[in-house]
Amino acid sequence: VTGLRFTKSFTQQEGLSEATIERAAVLMRSGRLHRYDTPDGELSEASLLEQEFAACQGRDYCLACASGGYALHIALRSIGLKPGETVLTNAYTLAPVPGAIRNAGGEPVLVEIDPFYHIDFEDLQAKAQQSGARVLLLSLMRGHMPDMDRLVDLCKKLGLILIEDCAHTMGAHWNGRRSGSFGQVAAFSLQTYKHINAGEGGLLVSDDEQVAARAIIHSGSYMFYEQHGAAPGPAIFDEIKFETPNFSGRMDNLRALIAREQLPDLDANVQRWNRRYRRLAEGLSAIPGLTIPARDPREAYVGSSIQFRADGLTRDEIPAFVSACQQRGVILKWFGEPQPRGFASRYDSWKYLDEQPRLPNTLEALEKTVDMRVPLTFDLEDCGRIVGVIRRVVEGKRLEG
Ligand SMILES: *Cc1c(COP(=O)(O)O)cnc(C)c1O
Repeated sequence: VTGLRFTKSFTQQEGLSEATIERAAVLMRSGRLHRYDTPDGELSEASLLEQEFAACQGRDYCLACASGGYALHIALRSIGLKPGETVLTNAYTLAPVPGAIRNAGGEPVLVEIDPFYHIDFEDLQAKAQQSGARVLLLSLMRGHMPDMDRLVDLCKKLGLILIEDCAHTMGAHWNGRRSGSFGQVAAFSLQTYKHINAGEGGLLVSDDEQVAARAIIHSGSYMFYEQHGAAPGPAIFDEIKFETPNFSGRMDNLRALIAREQLPDLDANVQRWNRRYRRLAEGLSAIPGLTIPARDPREAYVGSSIQFRADGLTRDEIPAFVSACQQRGVILKWFGEPQPRGFASRYDSWKYLDEQPRLPNTLEALEKTVDMRVPLTFDLEDCGRIVGVIRRVVEGKRLEG
């Protein structure tokens, strides 16, 4: 391949600071990696992370645990999901979401999305009424937030418990309010490709003391719940502790320390992501044939990835477009692809669901949707180069055709 080429990695995150590495070394020398291995009265790194994240989200309770998918699973358990019970979820999401529903013994019922990647309110209402569901697990996939105020009202009207999957919205706001403060429970991921990189990890937040207490016991607290950083008082544990199984999935102190070190930088990093996102969005939307679906001004998103539609290409031309970009070092994922690949599986590849729904609107919204990561190791010039590569590929295509 001759000409313009991009050489940086789309999966390379920033390294940890020297201060973090030093603090981690001290912890490792102490050997106290288990969250309940603390001298009397001292809060562990995991408990401090819970305190700080609860404060950051403006929530009463927080549980740190093994992964985002695990947090979703025990969120569903903690609200009292019954075996075989229906859980509504938007069809545009990642595989761990239907997986968490299954893990909690629930049956996912997928709801359509609209052309802006938001859950479709009409289909939500129809499916809620048809199924009699009590629970909506809203996945804010790739950070796209619907009108959250309207959604909360609709959930109230339909009697739905709202659980928010905020894997891609940590640090985002809707109408001035933090994503993760609308539902009865919200779950976040600390996995490398989300907004705080602890390798793996999850955070669950809630203001409901019963839900929080159950989540803590489920996570494998071995009855050390009084050592947690943002937990309800002991009385509620006395009510539920013997009827709540241990689904061992704890956070450890090393990952908690790594996450704590990054939490104060979250809001500044959101701005850094968004400067890169804006540069890409301006550049890409100026290329004829590419469109970026509009975003509501009330949506203060985190531009850690960008989605655009290759409307000027036919569906059959998209694989060649993606592969020409890849040959020039620009890695794109196509959500219209029938085969799951990397992090972009589509709902119709989850063959284990009881109901294999037909969701024409979702397929249409995803048919020409292309997805790109925006790691913070890219600078604004890199974003310009990426736009240059994509422009060259689109224009080359036009010359051929
Ligand atoms: C990553 C992700 C999850 C799960 O997080 P893990 O920490 O990887 O388990 C859930 N939902 C969405 C939308 C995600 O992208």
